[in-house]
Amino acid sequence: MSDCKLRAKNCGGCPLLGLDYAAQLKQKESAVRALLGKYGPVHPIRGMDVPYRYRNKVISTFAPAAGGKLTSGIYAARTHKVLPVESCLLEDEVLDKVLLAVRAAANRCRYQPYNEDRGTGLLRHCLLRRAVATGQVMVVLVTAQPVLPGAKNFVRYLLEEAETRGVPVTTVVQNYNPRQTSVVLGEAEKVLYGKGFILDTLCGKTYALSPRSFYQVNPVQTAVLYGLAVDAARLTGKETVLDAYCGIGTIGLTASGKAKQVVGVELNRDAVRDAIGNAKHNGVKNARFFAADATAWIQEAAEAGQRADVIFMDPPREGSTPRFLESVARMAPKRVVYVSCNPETMARDLALLTQKGYRAEGFVPVDLFPQTAHCEVVGALSRL
Ligand code: SAH
Repeated sequence: MSDCKLRAKNCGGCPLLGLDYAAQLKQKESAVRALLGKYGPVHPIRGMDVPYRYRNKVISTFAPAAGGKLTSGIYAARTHKVLPVESCLLEDEVLDKVLLAVRAAANRCRYQPYNEDRGTGLLRHCLLRRAVATGQVMVVLVTAQPVLPGAKNFVRYLLEEAETRGVPVTTVVQNYNPRQTSVVLGEAEKVLYGKGFILDTLCGKTYALSPRSFYQVNPVQTAVLYGLAVDAARLTGKETVLDAYCGIGTIGLTASGKAKQVVGVELNRDAVRDAIGNAKHNGVKNARFFAADATAWIQEAAEAGQRADVIFMDPPREGSTPRFLESVARMAPKRVVYVSCNPETMARDLALLTQKGYRAEGFVPVDLFPQTAHCEVVGALSRL
């Protein structure tokens, strides 16, 4: 399973596929060590036993096929040409089959793919999500028109086609996106079948995932990452914990049973709504979540004299800001756990944090994205 015919066709999804997995891990670990080694020891990278088929989310773009039918796939690298995909080495195998069922049902309904240049046609993208712990599957059909003609038949055909292929479909949602944009989802949504969300379990907590919810795409390695992050915090049950850049609250909720209280901060309002719901249906009573820019929020909290014993921070690829890091130092937590998806911005942020009185105890790289150049890192810092 170490090559893929899509690579020759300029797929671009797996830049490291030609490199043996052990060599990929070594390369990522060395890159992290080169960036962070001067701040503290870089421990061996955590890789996957089976570094394929890990993605629980698929986005496929519809395109015309022979005989007036439609197919779907991904854009070839640096183009707007759709490369049809029958099977992808990174994607959950169940989702490969669900996608074939979606295409077959769409063809039975004679739906036409949307044409970006002419603005004609109906179907733009299909977003699929599989909750690996529960097996539930969500299908989101993104349309260029507000109405999906014969939606009931589409659902009936889809359930038939899925059953033929031996895969489940738990819920089907239509998303209407009329805009000229490369953003996949639009604002308006209509549930065509099921509840409009699926439930997944991760590190002992249950999460409701809607079409728009941000959720890590590699569940096996996310459990490793969160486990390392919560361990690094060395919680005793007495701590006030801040989960900055918290998304749908996963890190804070994973830690909530070991802390006195958890406060989560996240910019995306939908994610915050999900986080509040997730706390509620898991019976977590000691967690609160705020929708705000993390820098503005923490600066205000620090100025108001608020304290935290432990701060988790998991910023986006751009990393954090000097004002955020200065406010962290003012809040004087005994421990900071920095979870990063970009070791370069992490190194930049560590230069400041270590000047402000924190020392890195160590770093663990975690390979969340085998076959790609990306690497996550968990860094544990303590106050001098
Ligand atoms: N900890 C979460 C999410 C990490 S991704 C998880 O593991 O799933 C980074 C998150 O930072 C995203 O949810 C993004 O919406 C959020 N974010 C980006 N810029 C932000 C800002 N300025 N303030 C607060 N949150 C921000």
